[in-house]
Amino acid sequence: MTDPEDLATQVRDGELRIHELEEYADHDTAAEARRLYVEQETDTDLESIGDYTFPAERAEPNIENMIGAAQIPMGIVGPVDVNGEETSSNGGGAATGEHYLPLATTEGALLASVNRGLGVIRTAGGADARVTKNGMTRAPVFRVKGVAEAAETVEWVNDNVDALAEAAESTTSHGELLDVEPYVVGDSVYLRFAYDTKDAMGMNMATIATGEACEIVEAETPASLVALSGNLCSDKKPAAINAVEGRGRSVTADVLIPGELVEERLHTTADAIAEANTRKNLTGSAKAGSLGFNAHAANVVAAAFLATGQDEAQVVEAANTITTMDARQREDGASDLYASVSLASLEVGTVGGGTKLPTQSEALEILGLRGGGEPAGSNADALAEIIAVGALAGELSLLAALASRHLASAHEDLGR
Ligand code: NAP
Repeated sequence: MTDPEDLATQVRDGELRIHELEEYADHDTAAEARRLYVEQETDTDLESIGDYTFPAERAEPNIENMIGAAQIPMGIVGPVDVNGEETSSNGGGAATGEHYLPLATTEGALLASVNRGLGVIRTAGGADARVTKNGMTRAPVFRVKGVAEAAETVEWVNDNVDALAEAAESTTSHGELLDVEPYVVGDSVYLRFAYDTKDAMGMNMATIATGEACEIVEAETPASLVALSGNLCSDKKPAAINAVEGRGRSVTADVLIPGELVEERLHTTADAIAEANTRKNLTGSAKAGSLGFNAHAANVVAAAFLATGQDEAQVVEAANTITTMDARQREDGASDLYASVSLASLEVGTVGGGTKLPTQSEALEILGLRGGGEPAGSNADALAEIIAVGALAGELSLLAALASRHLASAHEDLGR
């Protein structure tokens, strides 16, 4: 067996390059050798980073230059009580029922807060949640000579979506091309391809499929491909197009909470929460020029993404959530609280990417959503709905805490 000390020495002596170690040893030995090298170079002890439980080989598609694993505490909240659609956007029953939601975070008080909101939602009879739109996008940019060629290209694309779909779908047994939306800026043409990627988040799938379709565009029009991603997609950047048009799953969750329950459990009133939401999440966000009109939806999204193996950089897209809270007056004069969250671009999958890693896959198992759904796409729809209800619970709890002014004390008790 190759000795990790020897490999580390060879790296230090410049005889081996640090990314080549898997060519000379199994994946765990390579990671150990790299760790030894880094420990010596940086005068550190990486015992905890090296104390991981899965075979390093399982992470090969997910990481290069592996030295170990970052361990983030994981907890659960719930049950999350979701009344999903009888048939999801993909034709299967989505998230209906009660689910424990695993969340990984280092933020003390987050799970306690979300759990408080979920308890109130359960007592209120559960939250409704629906995926209202589904489409993972990739938008290549093409060069043309000028506006005349741009118009010619757009016309050809609009007339030949079927041919583009045939080419794109030849690369995948699951993906379906839904739409191609052209945009022109002078001598640049952008084509925003949108796909139903079923249970996959779909970024690799959409990119590969779009690459195939681009070859036909280049063959049939004057346009030349400059980049397979022209940023109108738009991936991992805050962008209004995702907030307006959606990307991945567009998912909404809502609940009506009796006024008495707001007072008993959240120690405030529907009116006070609605006012806090309007002045903070709507007016304050507008004044800040924010794309996100919510309190902390990204908190639940990020923690769910880390736990279940989603692409964590795509938390950016989910942060554009809009939260609404209204006091709805009853006939007896009391007010109930209507609360909703709408996540326009929640990019989630239950197959592919990081979902296959051992802890992430176990976390999906807790939700009953590991792997492909029956029919394909229903598991990812369900995951989107459950995360949306988790985000709704987080919004409720934080706004209630602000409205009842005990936010600072909760953090002092739980987070410090
Ligand atoms: P992937 O791991 O590349 O592919 C998943 C594959 O699973 C699909 O292509 C599909 O194969 C197969 N599959 C099996 N059962 C399925 C089901 N029920 N529903 C859908 N697909 C099913 O994952 P991906 O979701 O396309 O891409 C996610 C990865 O892309 C992440 O690792 C992310 O970090 C990375 N990423 C890539 C880019 C990029 O530009 N390439 C950008 C951002 C992130 P078939 O296609 O053969 O049907």
